[in-house]
Amino acid sequence: MAVVETHEPGAYTPRAGLYECDCAGGHLWRIDLAGHLFPPFPPGCSADRWRATEVSAISSAAPEGSPRS
Ligand SMILES: [Zn+2]
Repeated sequence: MAVVETHEPGAYTPRAGLYECDCAGGHLWRIDLAGHLFPPFPPGCSADRWRATEVSAISSAAPEGSPRS
């Protein structure tokens, strides 16, 4: 099962990657570094959250602080 990671605008980015809004427009925002802020949604965008996409493909080699039991 897939766990979808979502973030509010103004939250810190956990890692670099490509993020997509959850409105029908599918607006994309590329994050180059962790520790940036998610931007406000663009004009005409009705999304509530940014959703991580393709993140695992970028950072799968170095999972940082992922809890393992
Ligand atoms: Zn949108």
